[in-house]
Amino acid sequence: MLPRIPFNWPTLVGAEFEHVRTALSRGKLSGNGDFTRRCQALLEERTGAARALLTHSATGALEMAAILAGIEPGDEVIMPSFTFCSTANAVVLRGGVPVFVDIRPDTLNIDETAIEAAITPRTKAISVVHYAGVAAQMDAIMEIAERHGLAVMEDAAQALHASFRGKPLGSFGMAAAISFHETKNLISGEGGALLVNDPELALRAEIVWEKGTNRAQFARGEVARYTWVDIGSSFLPSEITAAFLLAQLEAGPEVTAQRLAAWERYHALLAPLEAAGRLARPRVPQECGHNGHIYFVLVPEAAQRDPALERLAALGVNAVMHYVPLHSSPAGLRYGRAAGPMTVTDELSARLIRLPLHPRLTPEEQARVVRALADVLGPG
Ligand SMILES: *Cc1c(COP(=O)(O)O)cnc(C)c1O
Repeated sequence: MLPRIPFNWPTLVGAEFEHVRTALSRGKLSGNGDFTRRCQALLEERTGAARALLTHSATGALEMAAILAGIEPGDEVIMPSFTFCSTANAVVLRGGVPVFVDIRPDTLNIDETAIEAAITPRTKAISVVHYAGVAAQMDAIMEIAERHGLAVMEDAAQALHASFRGKPLGSFGMAAAISFHETKNLISGEGGALLVNDPELALRAEIVWEKGTNRAQFARGEVARYTWVDIGSSFLPSEITAAFLLAQLEAGPEVTAQRLAAWERYHALLAPLEAAGRLARPRVPQECGHNGHIYFVLVPEAAQRDPALERLAALGVNAVMHYVPLHSSPAGLRYGRAAGPMTVTDELSARLIRLPLHPRLTPEEQARVVRALADVLGPG
């Protein structure tokens, strides 16, 4: 029996321990210290954000973005249904209503042509997701948002080091959320960042980040007293997490290149199965510079998917499905609503299989995954 190929294995780049040791030796372990600032400076440099703030998760960053966007009870936020629940939770926690629209069949991102029909007098914002690090159609989306006076938030949890027409993802909306969860390309166990692109929101973002206090300004000597000035929560990670993350961010370009190489290898190996009609490979539009975060395939019929996953598991390949669409989830039904048909979302989410993709995966293992897929789906 060949060893099992896990779906994920957390990326380690080597310098994490050294940075953590340095952090421990300094006797300053709470957040917003030197390692936090170095991570933030790197993120600002790479994305062009006016301000980057480390958070304990992308979930936390999305919650901050919803506060900064001024989402109030009854306000509607248009978003895809094919996403992680944190995109919607952030809105619901402010009393807002997620309004789900369908996705595009190529990128599985929000269908920009379905957005305008979902706009009502209560619509406040559009929340886009860049699935698999492949960009949503940001030209069209920003144009719609501008015409209707809506804020744009980017759930860029999977999208660090990816771009749309050469511009980094996370730099389009008023704010964006990045994740460093262990399943993402760059990690800190749990972790994330808020990118603030509207400079006028940067100061308030810091206040929300530090429990609603002006502590960051106080530390810079800009105000005389440290006090409670606004709503907020504890969104910042410790310096231990930031030290670990700095090593990852420093190695970011190499990690991304490695991931893209593995993605391209799957893509080449799977071409014959696609040509034989056994599955469909992902289609990445020309204008999207992706980061190799996910390699997925679509099986021809939804009914084939779950049996295929079971048979792959029996062959030692840990492949997995992805989101149960939010519009049909128990909480999605309670707190949100679908605007328009969800045909593409329902169909493609039921046909999708994500293949193992992580730094330990060897080319031989990738070939084994592809052989197992051919076994399970038939060679054609
Ligand atoms: C991973 C992910 C999140 C949540 O990230 P955390 O850092 O675990 O909170 C949110 N949205 C999307 C699209 C994700 O992929």
